[in-house]
Formats: sequence, C-alpha cells, structure tokens
Amino acid sequence: MGGKRMRIRKPSRINLRQLILLLAVFSAVVMLAGGMAGAYQVQRQQLMANTLDANEAFALKLARITSDLLLRAQGNLSYSAGLMVRSGMDPAVLQAEVDRLRHLELGFNTVTVVDGRGVIQAFSPLTRDLKGRRLDVKNGNGIGEDRVPMISAPYVSVLGNLAIRLSHPLFDRTGHLLGRLSATVYLKNDGGLQRLIGEQYFRDGTYVYVVDAQGRLLYHPQPERIGEIIMNNPAIDSVRKGRSGQMRLVNSRDVDMLAGYAYVPTADWGVVVQRPTELALRGLNALMLHVLQLAVWPALALLALLWLLSRWISRPLGELSQIVQAGYEEGMARRIAAVKCWYLEAQRLRGALLAGQGQVRTRMGELYSAAHTDPLTKLGNRRGLEAAFRALEEQGLPFALVALDIDLFKRINDQHGHDAGDRVIAGLADLMRTQARQGDALFRLGGEEFLVVLPGCDMAEAVKIAERLRAALEGAQMLEGGNVTLSAGVAVCEDGDAWQALKAADQALYRAKQGGRNRVEADAF
Ligand code: GH3
Ligand code: MG
Ligand code: MG
Repeated sequence: MGGKRMRIRKPSRINLRQLILLLAVFSAVVMLAGGMAGAYQVQRQQLMANTLDANEAFALKLARITSDLLLRAQGNLSYSAGLMVRSGMDPAVLQAEVDRLRHLELGFNTVTVVDGRGVIQAFSPLTRDLKGRRLDVKNGNGIGEDRVPMISAPYVSVLGNLAIRLSHPLFDRTGHLLGRLSATVYLKNDGGLQRLIGEQYFRDGTYVYVVDAQGRLLYHPQPERIGEIIMNNPAIDSVRKGRSGQMRLVNSRDVDMLAGYAYVPTADWGVVVQRPTELALRGLNALMLHVLQLAVWPALALLALLWLLSRWISRPLGELSQIVQAGYEEGMARRIAAVKCWYLEAQRLRGALLAGQGQVRTRMGELYSAAHTDPLTKLGNRRGLEAAFRALEEQGLPFALVALDIDLFKRINDQHGHDAGDRVIAGLADLMRTQARQGDALFRLGGEEFLVVLPGCDMAEAVKIAERLRAALEGAQMLEGGNVTLSAGVAVCEDGDAWQALKAADQALYRAKQGGRNRVEADAF
C-alpha cells in the first residue's frame, strides 16, 4: 500500500468547556493585573504629586513667615535706632532699648550697640560686662561697615555661638554715622529660627531646612549639620537662584526625595521641605492589597458566572459529540434532534449530523432488509426470523407460529423441473402475503419450508389461519396437471421462548406429514 500513512492522533485531554474557562480566567487575570498595574501607577503618580504640592505649599508658607519675621525684626531695630539717635545716644536709653529688643518675641539672643569706632556702648543680656570692649568690624563678627540695614552671613559669635546678625546703622540728622545697632539670632541652641521652624509639626519623615545664599545650612533638624555647606542638591541650587517650586531629587546623601522649595527675598535665603520618596509611597502597597481584597468577592462571582457560561456554551457540542462518539445506535437521530442548540454553530452541526444520520439510516435499512430477506420470495429469511424473535421476546407479547412445508416437493422438481419448483415456492409466498394480516411476519426458512408469525394470536385463530392457507394452496392452480398441497404445524408461544415454540410447531408439522400430508396439526402441548 502506497500513499501517506494516516496518523492517528490521541484524543485531546482538554475539552471545550475547560478551554473556555481557561480563556476566560486567563483574560480576567490579565485584565485584573493590568488594572492593578495601572491603578498602582496612577496612585503612585498621585501620591508623589500630592507630596510635592504639599511640600511646596509648606515651603512657601515657611518662607513667608520667615520673611515677615525678618521684616518685623528690621522694623523694630529701625524704631529703636530712631529712639537712640533722638536721645543723643543716652546710655540709659541705649540699655533700655537693647533690653526691650531682646525681649520681643522675635528671638534675638543678643542685642548690641557699638559706636562709630566699634566700641560697645550697650549690650543685652547683661550676663557679661562687655561694655567698652571693641568689636573689630573685620573680625567675622557679622558687623560690617554697611550704611544700610543688613542681615549677615552665619558666623561664630564672641560667645562661640553660630549666629546671624541683623544690623541697623545709627545716623544723626546730618547723616553722620554714630554707631550701629545689631541683634544676633543663634542658629543652634534654642535660637529664634529654630524656635520658628522647630515649632512646626512634622510627621512621616518630612523635614525642613533653611539655607543662605551660599547654600549654608541655617536651620536643619539635625543641629550638628547647621553651618554645613550643601553641594549637589538641585533644590538648593534652584532656590539660591531665587526660584520657588518643586522637584524630585537625589539629595547630597543619595536619598531619593520629593522636595518643595521657596525663596526668602528679605534675606536671600531658601526654605526647602522634603520627604523621602520611599516614605511617601510606603502606604501604596497596603492600599493595593486592600483594593485586591475588595476585588476578591466580585472576582469569585465572576468566576461562578464564567463556570455557568462555559457549561452553557459547551453543552450542545458536548452532548452532540457524546452521542456520535458511541457510533451508530438505535434512536440516535432522536437523541441528536433532542439536543438543545441555541447558537448557530451548534445548530449547523446538529443539522449536519441529522442529515448524515438520515443517510446512515437509509443505508442501514437497505443493508438490514437485504440481509434479512430471501431473494426468491422477498419474505424474511432465517436472520430476519432471529431479529423478529428478539423483538417479540423484548415486547413479551404472546404469539402463534405456523410452520409450513410443501408436500412431496422433490416430485414436483422431478416432474416439472427446478424452475417450475421455484415458481411454486414464489407462488406460495404470494399466497401467504395475500392471506397475511397487518402485523403478521412471513419467513422462508429453507427450500420449501415457511413460517408465519402471528403476534397476539391464540391457538384456535392460528389453526384457522393455517387451514385457510392450506385450502388456498390446494385450490390454487399452481401447476398444470396436478395441484400442490402443504402440511402445517401450529404452536403458540406464551412463556416468551420463541425457539421452543418453533420446535413445537415443527413437531406438529412432522405429525401432519405422518398423518398423510395436506393437513394442519396443532401442537399438543
Ligand atoms: P415431504 O412431503 O416429506 O416434505 O416430501 P418432499 O419431497 O417435499 O421432501 P423434502 O421436504 O425433504 O424435500 C425438499 C426438496 O426440495 C429437496 C430439494 O430438491 C428441493 N428444494 C430445496 N430447495 C429448493 C429450491 O430452492 N428450489 C427448488 N426448485 N427445489 C428445492
Ligand atoms: Mg416438503
Ligand atoms: Mg422440506
């Protein structure tokens, strides 16, 4: 045998329903994961944007407060300076004013008045008597020779404190410089700036620092860092250029930060509020977990729905395939027709199967009748009788049998030829057909031996029918010159054993032959 070899595939392990479920669950998982990822991104952006906004707003507020504080401080210094000049630099007025200034809410740590040569005229607090000492203006003490109000860069004060100094010149009416009034604010050790900013309530790792124009820390929550110059911090670079705003940055210590910053124009300082990005996003995972938890019940409901749906979709195809899988069976077409097909493909498949079934049935019917029919007489053959007996036994109905045998048939063959014998056989079959009632079954079991099956018929009636048949044959002109007769044996089947009844009918037939032929004998029980 040439040609391609047919490859026989193993049946797939997965069925339609599992496929539908798999697909549905897969797409649900992908969509959920996609949704979660999207939500995560949006939430993350939102959290970062919120933190940046909050930090910028806070930086702006602190910058304004700082600015106001400095303006008020300068206003107070200016007021006192006026009093001092008008008193003609009266020492009592100078002392009263420096004391008063120090007790204002602004948080001055020391207040000093020096004369034009830098000699101290008044000092508050009076813990050390510094009066008469000279302050060298070029000694990094924050007092310059400026003729305008100033805010100094941080410096280390006489008392060893890191401080900034606000100074105001003292001019007489003619514009002659009498001296200078100055006030210091310590940057560490409970200084005013610390009180101002340290008072602010910080949580969640948010913190504030203040830098001057050089990027030097004026305030920081870690006091030891105050005075340090910060490099490589883009927020500080930006605020030093006088800008306010927000940015995500990596600070000088390599921490990812969300920073808001604001410029303090009065002093050329900058306020930066920042929070580590990681801390700002800390709640996000818990939030997403919560969202997932909320999604559990709807997901389970969806799964149940999918389960039902997959069943609903796969059911018609599953049932159809189940029916055809077993091969041809009785009642197959009815079962195929009974499958509920609610969508197009299933309907088409069912239609095609039914059409195919019709063809199979017709074909089977042809084969069946060919196999069960005697070609000469078109009566049933022995195989047909077996099928008829099976059907009768299944139904359990009583029935009668009439066994027939043509008398002395050998002689007919001998005298008239084999073909004439065949015609007699066929003629008797026709006779039987005309005598038969609806529901009777007729068989040719051998050469010139016949059987009539009479369902629902009792002995008396069966004998009557047999007798009628016998008489009909006797009266028929089957052959020229001499008539043809038959002998018959009758039996009834009431216990369901058809073959036993057939044997009884044969025995009765035998008795009919013995009794002289051309007669009917009933089974004696
Ligand atoms: P009996 O009355 O005892 O039945 O005598 P009989 O001659 O009919 O004897 P039997 O039934 O034993 O003989 C049957 C004969 O029928 C034998 C055979 O030659 C003949 N025969 C069998 N089949 C056919 C057939 O198909 N056609 C023809 N023409 N003859 C057949
Ligand atoms: Mg015979
Ligand atoms: Mg015979």
